[in-house]
Amino acid sequence: MNATQRSRGRLEVISGSMFSGKTEQLIARLREAGTRGERVGAYKHRIDNRYDPDHLITHTQDRFPAIRVADAAEVVARSNHLDTVAIDEGHFFGRILIDAVNTLLEAGKRVIVVGLEHDAWGRPFTPMPQLSEMADDVAHVYSACRVCGGQARYTQRMVPIDTPTMVGGVHQYEPRCQRCFEPLDAPPPEME
Ligand SMILES: [Zn+2]
Repeated sequence: MNATQRSRGRLEVISGSMFSGKTEQLIARLREAGTRGERVGAYKHRIDNRYDPDHLITHTQDRFPAIRVADAAEVVARSNHLDTVAIDEGHFFGRILIDAVNTLLEAGKRVIVVGLEHDAWGRPFTPMPQLSEMADDVAHVYSACRVCGGQARYTQRMVPIDTPTMVGGVHQYEPRCQRCFEPLDAPPPEME
């Protein structure tokens, strides 16, 4: 390694079902990094316009400033000055997020990606499983199944679906365990 080469960064993934406290855990890590003097930045996809477009919002109404971006390339383009780069709802970004994360890691950054483990059809939700494979640290966070109280690894869609991205609020989804989860009958719409 020559003197100008920086060491590879660190990838952390926080993966689970909806309402499991994923964003709470992300905000806690960002605040902790901030107290150590790290330059931190959080990004969210612009299709995620629930609640507040310019903050990460938890279901308990805690908030942290976030930058809305059009795609994963914009995350990379806007992160030059940052030590820690956080991406909320990583499943909104699609497979291209993997390349963006690799670019950030090669630049020596700490990257934290939060997202859903399964989509509304019960399938692994790209790119979260792939990022978990690459990660230095993976936290699985699950809420309680709304039906039986078991460990909810799935997210049940409660109303008809018109997009594959699973943008939605508290009334459109509920956490379910594998036994209580009912995959949607309708095939998933094509990703854009
Ligand atoms: Zn259950």
